[in-house]
Amino acid sequence: MKKLEVNKDMCISCGTCFSIDTEHFAEDDDGLSEVISQENLDTELVKNVVDSCPTRAISLNECCCGECNCGDNK
Ligand code: SF4
Repeated sequence: MKKLEVNKDMCISCGTCFSIDTEHFAEDDDGLSEVISQENLDTELVKNVVDSCPTRAISLNECCCGECNCGDNK
């Protein structure tokens, strides 16, 4: 099970991810990106968004728990 994450310490609020992919990303109250869905991660769009982040703040890795899609387990 893959997990999409944003490291908010690295996000510079450029808006690229939540402009390109509104299914998975949204702007939080601080103007930073947040992940809003862990569904449909195996797409070219998601890969492109991960690669488009100027600070490499977005990661798409195997979920450590390997059993759920809650998006919160580490
Ligand atoms: S593309 Fe990267 S730096 Fe820009 S808003 Fe998204 S996470 Fe933040």
